[in-house]
Amino acid sequence: MNKQRMVIKVGSHVLAEEGAIAKKRMMDLVEFIALLKEHKYEVILVSSGAVAAGFTRLPLDRTIVANKQALAAIGQPLLLKMYQEKFATFDLLCSQVLLSADVFEAKNQIAHAKVAIDTLLANNVIPIINENDTVSIEELIFGDNDRLSAYVAHYFDAKLLVILSDIDAFYDKDPNLHKDAKRRAVVTEISKDELEAGHTPNNTFATGGIVTKLQAADFLMKHGREMFLASGFDLAAVKSFLIDKEHLDGTLFRS
Ligand code: ADP
Repeated sequence: MNKQRMVIKVGSHVLAEEGAIAKKRMMDLVEFIALLKEHKYEVILVSSGAVAAGFTRLPLDRTIVANKQALAAIGQPLLLKMYQEKFATFDLLCSQVLLSADVFEAKNQIAHAKVAIDTLLANNVIPIINENDTVSIEELIFGDNDRLSAYVAHYFDAKLLVILSDIDAFYDKDPNLHKDAKRRAVVTEISKDELEAGHTPNNTFATGGIVTKLQAADFLMKHGREMFLASGFDLAAVKSFLIDKEHLDGTLFRS
């Protein structure tokens, strides 16, 4: 049976809690990835959380970008060590791949990176990708790896990107502001207004990180790929979607 390649992106709101890494949630995620591998999925993980991990050792002011870069450099090895220990309990090996969005502008760099990723996956190793925050800071400021994970899915040839977020789906309006917001189960088109909402003040779509998620979805849909947005706090929806093939919650973006 051919393995299906997928990318899972986990945001820092899910991985961090009260200034530290949420260990239980990380363990649940690792256990879920181990389960996916049993079900013949090849999994690439895009993980935020380095800044939060660094902050546990050196509480610098995180409103300053240079401090965030320093915290990411401190936290990245700590984060990987935690992943390594957790994956080891399932006899799985993981690896660290640091990328920046510009890698995807250079064909030869994409090719080098893809060879490395393919080789890791062929050897049953889980690549854990993060932005290299020392050289590129865009995702530190805006997007929290949403864009990077869409590029990873497309250029490393994954059919599906799963975004595990602090929100359980995409709604017709911001559910934190509107009690009557309705979940969109399947989205096949994203309007220009929704994609550009970040630039429009007072637009409800501009809050939180939903705009960068919609941009990621739009990019993937235009390239014939899919994105599934679901809760990272409770993995039941993503589990039933991927393992039982039942779409009970979360939003599927596909063209
Ligand atoms: P994460 O860090 O988990 O990747 P973000 O917090 O950056 O996610 O982005 C998700 C947030 O976007 C939600 O918590 C919600 O407040 C906000 N949001 C704004 N509009 C919407 C919408 N239409 N549907 C879902 N979430 C929305």
